[in-house]
Amino acid sequence: MKTTGINRRNFLFGAVSLGTLAAATPVRAFEMFGFSGNKEPKASHGKAESFPFELTDEEWRERLTPEQYKVLRSEGTERSCSSPLIDVEGPGKFYCVGCGHLLFATENKFYSDSGWPSFYQPYDEHSVGTSTDYKIGYARTEVHCANCGGHLGHIFEDGPPPTGLRYCINGVALEYVKDEEAGEKTK
Ligand SMILES: [Zn+2]
Repeated sequence: MKTTGINRRNFLFGAVSLGTLAAATPVRAFEMFGFSGNKEPKASHGKAESFPFELTDEEWRERLTPEQYKVLRSEGTERSCSSPLIDVEGPGKFYCVGCGHLLFATENKFYSDSGWPSFYQPYDEHSVGTSTDYKIGYARTEVHCANCGGHLGHIFEDGPPPTGLRYCINGVALEYVKDEEAGEKTK
């Protein structure tokens, strides 16, 4: 939760700074705390600092395969045309392999010829979050799981109607479940 993140930041900030701020004027201290509390926490990669589902780095490494970890936790990219999910059709849903969050549905999937599973929109407004990344020298829209923050891929503006968007997603970050098997899964 964002609030927890902000509170933790303030707490840490306060704990570290109380000694050094003893000599500072109250006004200055107030301004500094105000700045810390009112600004949206921002990491260098532009993502929010906290998500509803969080694990330690060690726990992620235990939970994920090395390939999944590379994509979800290190913003890696799987090899083009390597995902068996590129050709998946028929009613089904795609979940985050990191946390099980519902991300995409086959009804919003299309074949893009890009080498990665492609969707023109996520499952719903709670599925994914975005940030701006400059990893390869220019701005791209990065897309991640809204629940755990795991990196999924990027969004490009060359998709089909109705959105004109292409969510270019690493298949290794997804778990595909056919709708007809969904009942089995929850049993
Ligand atoms: Zn997730």
